[in-house]
Amino acid sequence: MAKITLFHDKAECCGCEACVNICPQKAIHMEEDEYGFRYSCIDASLCVECGLCQRVCGYKQVEENNVPVSTYVACTLNTDIMKSASGGIFASLAKSMIEQGGIVYGVSMETISGELTPMHIGVEKLEDLIKLQGSKYVQSIMGDTYQQVKKLLMQGRKILFSGTPCQVAGLKTYLGDVGNENLLLVDIICHGVPSVSFFQSYVKELEKKLKGKITEFRFRDKSSGWGLVGKASYLTAKNQEKSKLIYARESSYYQLFLRGDIYRENCYSCKYASSNRPGDITLGDYWGIEHEHPDYLVANGGDFDEAQGISCMIINTSKGKEYVKQVSDGLRLGTSTFEKVARKNGQLRYPTKSSERRQMILDKYVNGGYQEVDAWFKRKNLIKMPFVFVLDRIPVAVKKKIRRMLKR
Ligand SMILES: Cc1cc2nc3c(=O)[nH]c(=O)nc-3n(C[C@H](O)[C@H](O)[C@H](O)COP(=O)(O)OP(=O)(O)OC[C@H]3O[C@@H](n4cnc5c(N)ncnc54)[C@H](O)[C@@H]3O)c2cc1C
Repeated sequence: MAKITLFHDKAECCGCEACVNICPQKAIHMEEDEYGFRYSCIDASLCVECGLCQRVCGYKQVEENNVPVSTYVACTLNTDIMKSASGGIFASLAKSMIEQGGIVYGVSMETISGELTPMHIGVEKLEDLIKLQGSKYVQSIMGDTYQQVKKLLMQGRKILFSGTPCQVAGLKTYLGDVGNENLLLVDIICHGVPSVSFFQSYVKELEKKLKGKITEFRFRDKSSGWGLVGKASYLTAKNQEKSKLIYARESSYYQLFLRGDIYRENCYSCKYASSNRPGDITLGDYWGIEHEHPDYLVANGGDFDEAQGISCMIINTSKGKEYVKQVSDGLRLGTSTFEKVARKNGQLRYPTKSSERRQMILDKYVNGGYQEVDAWFKRKNLIKMPFVFVLDRIPVAVKKKIRRMLKR
């Protein structure tokens, strides 16, 4: 047994994999628990007790002290906004980095051994940027990304690294002072992450229903507007390409994700759910824009189109401010405040509350597989499903128009 203990409680490990990346002995690997959440484990026969793994753990030791410098309503003017979850700001920041000869790291939904797997990858061609666009509502696998970033920074390359706040913080402690001037950190507002294996089991269940093999899964499809509708593309047994829209309220996975029922243990005490962010820039959806800045909206004569998606962008450091100044030609910006953004984005103020249902759902998953979780969800929502079915198929813009008319 290793003498080093990485954590005493699961809530102390965010799964960023900084310890795996730093271990000179390759003595640390990630292992899934019964629910599929990945935790670091030390192989005692390889461990030399150097303690680097304990010192690199930003999650346990480092308090972030950035404070918002400025906050914007934002959307892209130079990339395809329809491929992004909200206003496409990530793609604009990333495009510029690639055009400067840099490399952009973010999450791509890769197919590994036939299974859709969210993973951090680096891209240096504009045509590959699409892989990183769009939210993947699952914890990504970091692999040796931190090592790659360090190596590239030491070669003098410019890097944009994006991820959840805990992943960004993990990279910061892993790097220390290495290559700081060439690194731009972008964290996304995050309310929690489900496990890869839970997501993959959901995909398998969906494949049974569709009688096909899912080849692509996008959580945020904008064909009916900016909202919470996904899309699964699949191949039928006769090799025909088909797709199905996944409405958040009808999908067990999506609904359990949004309600905060299936996150990793530490997400419920996330220390980054505040205004002290680890990234130079923080990106999210500008939920509640219609209340905070109605005059900015196209519907009221402004420039921001709710049908396409609108981001919030919080600048946390002078480096972030300088970068946004450089790329501002590609962005549509409107001034806002952190308080306004945080009003409808609770995870900028406090972590998701742990639900009583979480353990019950995870137990169902362990005992009866995803099938049992899905069956429970269907039973629970049996009565309201026909109404939800009709409501979901009304385009988001039409729903917003009706809501506005009713308010008058
Ligand atoms: C798990 C999760 C929870 C989120 N929760 C909220 C929320 O509560 N409120 C809110 O306003 N926004 C939330 N977001 C962020 C939001 O969905 C958009 O990603 C964000 O607004 C950026 O949008 P964009 O249009 O600029 O870029 P997009 O092109 O849509 O986003 C791509 C960016 O997201 C990153 N990304 C995608 N999936 C993951 C992942 N699994 N792990 C780490 N990084 C990932 C990519 O690396 C890239 O930086 C969440 C995102 C994720 C992944």
